Amino acid sequence: MNLLTDDFISTTVGKISLKEILTSETDYQLQYAFDEIQLAMLQLLASLSTVVLKPSLEELKGYLKQGLTVAQYDQALDKVDLQWFDEACFMRSPLPEGGKGADAPITKMISGVECGTSPNALGLFSEISNADHACPDCTHVLNYNLHMNIKGECFGPTGATGIRGGGAISTLIASKDIKTTILANTVAVDYFDSLREIESPNNKLMWQDPMQGEIYYAHHIGLERGLFALAYHIDFSVIDAPCVCDVCGHESSQSVQEFTRLKYKGSYGSTKKGRDGNANWWPHPFTPITTKEEGIFPVCARDQNWQSWQSFSSYVLAQETEKSLSTPAFVVHQYRKLATGGGNLLIGGNIADQGSITGRIYDLYSMPEHWDNDKLERVTKVIDAGLYVKDRLSQAFNKMFGAGYDKKFVSGIKITAMNQYISNAQNIVQQLLLDVDRKEARALRKEALEQLKIEAITIYRALMRKYQNDLPLFKALSKGEKVLLAVNKVKA
Ligand SMILES: [Zn+2]
Repeated sequence: MNLLTDDFISTTVGKISLKEILTSETDYQLQYAFDEIQLAMLQLLASLSTVVLKPSLEELKGYLKQGLTVAQYDQALDKVDLQWFDEACFMRSPLPEGGKGADAPITKMISGVECGTSPNALGLFSEISNADHACPDCTHVLNYNLHMNIKGECFGPTGATGIRGGGAISTLIASKDIKTTILANTVAVDYFDSLREIESPNNKLMWQDPMQGEIYYAHHIGLERGLFALAYHIDFSVIDAPCVCDVCGHESSQSVQEFTRLKYKGSYGSTKKGRDGNANWWPHPFTPITTKEEGIFPVCARDQNWQSWQSFSSYVLAQETEKSLSTPAFVVHQYRKLATGGGNLLIGGNIADQGSITGRIYDLYSMPEHWDNDKLERVTKVIDAGLYVKDRLSQAFNKMFGAGYDKKFVSGIKITAMNQYISNAQNIVQQLLLDVDRKEARALRKEALEQLKIEAITIYRALMRKYQNDLPLFKALSKGEKVLLAVNKVKA
């Protein structure tokens, strides 16, 4: 099986090839049991499409407008050294001689499934039997996911931190159908290189020319090399036993239940050691970043109660504060440059805490038809309204600290209520953005303030009712209510 020519992509109507998905008139639906793997597959397909097409910005614009023909795909494929995309070697750098790998069940490749024994290894789904057989085709997306999206800590001391840092948020363009989505996340080579201004980085794949040394300098890593950057030597043991794959749901005559891996010794600029050694951040095209005095960091989900809407503005427009600069992912930046219109934004990632996965982000946001500054401001106005109300709500709750109770007790009440607002606001913000093309910025902001205010007041008054017989707390909450209601006076 070769990833650039053969059928390995699972869809609701069976397995298809990259060429079919990119050139067909059919809008295929990917079929993977976990949204995490679905997201990883989109990343993998866009990366493979970049390797095949190597488009310039102008060519990519053409593909997005007119589609990609079979002849164009074949012509581009002629220039690719296919051997490196064969299933036996794709992203599988062999273990060094004498190197002893660590074995693990295939389950471990799906972060969120609990299969560790250490006390801090917790997952989102506890049934290991939900994912203990994979077909050989699916090992590629599992392997890619391990390298790009799973935090090294989830593997304890044998875990490695990949080029994206592990646990980074992905922001992908979600277009009208699957092929346009893949093309919209394909990287325009000339534009990517022009932003980097690097003379001649090594563009050989890492399983063709493995990384050496202790520090993996970003300026040595070319686009294709970085898109499939390795953090582990890895091998999958394929057995001749039929299975129904737990990842894609298709029948297979062979199955995989275990894999062996050994981490690479060097450090990327995504780690502290790499930063200290001046490795610098490799600009992964799917990752928004934050630039601080201490270095460049991929944007990650914070904790279990974090919701993506709170940082959404910084995923679409650069934002500067005193201490940091947030920059949207390259694909978002590129999409604005392509100006083809009609894309939404998909935000995905894991929320990890040490060895545990405590949550998943998989949020789709409606975006304006055209991504110019003026239209994107409508988006940021909605987010700002949500953050403003959140701030007022927080200040209102702070009055409780004056009631004379134990600080821990009071902050417990506050945190629970704030998290409820943050969580409910996620749906409200996503709903409001459905109207982003139909409503002017002012009207949209007004509506956002109105709806989010009602949400905050509802949460607040429920708490007042709960503590109506607790006089000191009730009095404090009444004081706070005035702070919250001041939201009414804000001009939209
Ligand atoms: Zn499968």
